[in-house]
Amino acid sequence: MRPSILFPLFAEARTLKGVGPRVEKLLSKALGKDAPPRILDLAFHLPFGLVDRSYRPALIEAEPGRIATLVVNVLDHKPGRGHGKQPYRVLCSDDTGLIELVFFALYGDRVQQQLPAGTKRAISGRVESFSGRLQMPHPDYIVPIEELNTIPSNEPVYGSTEGLSPRVVAKAVTAALERVRDLPEWQDPAFLAREKWPSFTAALHAVHAPASELDFALDTLARRRLAYDELLANQLALALTRQRLRVRNGRVLKATGKLRSKALAALPFKLTAAQTQAIGEIDGDMASGSRMLRLLQGDVGAGKTVVAMMSLLAAVEAGTQGALMAPTELLARQHMASLEAMANAAGVKLALLTGRERGASRDALLERLAAGDIDILVGTHALFSTDVAFRDLGLAVIDEQHRFGVHQRMLLQGKGNTPADVLVMTATPIPRTLELTAYGDMEVSRLMGRPPGRKPVETRVLPASRRDEVIEGIKRAVAKGERVYWVCPLVEESEKIDLAAAEDRAAELAEIFGSKVGLVHGKMKGPDRDAAMARFKAGETSILVATTVIEVGVDVPEATIMVIEHAERFGLAQLHQLRGRVGRGAAKSTCLLVYYPPLGPTAKERLQALRRTDDGFVIADEDLRLRGAGELLGTKQSGLPTFRFADISVHGELLKAAQDDAQLIMQRDSGLSGKRGEALRTLLFLFERDEAVRYIRTR
Ligand code: ADP
Ligand code: MG
Repeated sequence: MRPSILFPLFAEARTLKGVGPRVEKLLSKALGKDAPPRILDLAFHLPFGLVDRSYRPALIEAEPGRIATLVVNVLDHKPGRGHGKQPYRVLCSDDTGLIELVFFALYGDRVQQQLPAGTKRAISGRVESFSGRLQMPHPDYIVPIEELNTIPSNEPVYGSTEGLSPRVVAKAVTAALERVRDLPEWQDPAFLAREKWPSFTAALHAVHAPASELDFALDTLARRRLAYDELLANQLALALTRQRLRVRNGRVLKATGKLRSKALAALPFKLTAAQTQAIGEIDGDMASGSRMLRLLQGDVGAGKTVVAMMSLLAAVEAGTQGALMAPTELLARQHMASLEAMANAAGVKLALLTGRERGASRDALLERLAAGDIDILVGTHALFSTDVAFRDLGLAVIDEQHRFGVHQRMLLQGKGNTPADVLVMTATPIPRTLELTAYGDMEVSRLMGRPPGRKPVETRVLPASRRDEVIEGIKRAVAKGERVYWVCPLVEESEKIDLAAAEDRAAELAEIFGSKVGLVHGKMKGPDRDAAMARFKAGETSILVATTVIEVGVDVPEATIMVIEHAERFGLAQLHQLRGRVGRGAAKSTCLLVYYPPLGPTAKERLQALRRTDDGFVIADEDLRLRGAGELLGTKQSGLPTFRFADISVHGELLKAAQDDAQLIMQRDSGLSGKRGEALRTLLFLFERDEAVRYIRTR
């Protein structure tokens, strides 16, 4: 249960003054949330800039172009003629000069109200000079002189969205911050003293009250404190999960090699050294008495599938069952297809369970599974259903491709009578620092490099004006029976725009290539999308226009051209993943990164990096360097944790410290029952690691 001290923070933002239904909706959007915003979301919404209103000149000294706060007498109103065609002007003065306040819209009544002639007003806004006269268009502040001090001398500026004034956001944030009470201290007092960090609440207030640009640095005491809190919550949650996974001993699963050797004999290739090593590491874990919790990291096309199959066969050889779970229906089917030959050769029974299996056939399958008649079950999250029972699950392989979370891992491994070993596969090359945030101290095997025989993809960067060349290239490829992916602009905020762009492109290409053009997008229903993919795979269509939903891991060896439109809008790792869709067959492949000028320096570096290297790990590190962890890998979809305060590219050493701290906490008080433990529970809830709280061991 969430501690009551946090209730005010988790209350909805609509309970704040000034946040009605309209503002609430816009705030959701500004904060990038689907749900109604809460006090917490506002309090964690950091300003990105600062307006300095401390400049208070007399009119005669006022420098045009600067933001100034002025005290003036209201002299006269000059309503614009022609019903708002001309601006509404209000003439004001001080002892030294004159200034005109200019209102371009028809605000007559409001202006009259705010600036009655003969009164004194404090105003703040940008001073301009127009034909030798001072003016201020639309002052940001107009208040009675007694309220001069309500005009902040340093005003933080908050990210907003269309139709919502940043000032309204600022007001809501300020109101939210007033609800943030002191919380029990969860950090070690000695550590806190050494770092000279303020309390959480003080730090939060501080980051919302920057006094100068310097305060936006990521290494201020307040920012580091908050980053550390967030990282500690992350690391502690992982440590708790891990403790739970390790709580019962694992089992000893020894590979005999009997099935494996048959499966290997059926392969047209030999295992690479990297594959053999990874299999060795996995074998070691499985044969040991403690449970395996291992991450197999390997770039797209690195050859993880065989490694997974060898591990699954080890589980079967040891007399248990194996499960392989994929993030999508399509990938589950593809895994099924690629495992089948090996399974047949080894005489192992393989079955598929996805959301589409229903009714009698599903019942029959479940019966066989419970009876131990199925050795390896491949599927989607349908494997989580409570009625799916194995006779004896020994190993769960989770092909994460970066979509599942810790919680799902827990669910599947809980399926056995005795806890199963867990192997997580990811195709996302994650920089080591980030790996720590997503997988804690999980053991890691890395499959570096590619299996032999795979040709590097030629990567070209070219402006959209050279589209004709692109089309010519596609014509040649299609004539040879090759396939082409055409990925359309990514517009983060709007799936609708994504879709429209893809539909337009498909229509345009259809004018040239007729019925050879297919389309897949995120809004399509699963079966329709699979069907479109299947037609492409079968060669019924040659050009597949897609939004970025092209599934990671989809294998179409005939695909030789990958066109990525608006490549400048994609993240490096994402571009790398997309490029991995081609170069899978015998023919030479090309990736065309089409950009729309002007190309900014960072975007240019990104695209160049991609031309230079094909190594996902190098690219991941480069991505981290160029963008910071927040945006990395399109973090939203990646399943990697996103941080509000911490930036791994800067706070890497804090992450390491948080990991050590979390381990120490687990050693000293793994039930989080001491005084600090109680406070740490609050921390976990505060950063919404509620799930992990459930894993706290109760004695
Ligand atoms: P991943 O799942 O890591 O993206 P896959 O397991 O799908 O990669 O392997 C990519 C391709 O490489 C497949 O076509 C596979 O048959 C092939 N492959 C895997 N291991 C080897 C190897 N040792 N030698 C040659 N080809 C291999
Ligand atoms: Mg794969």
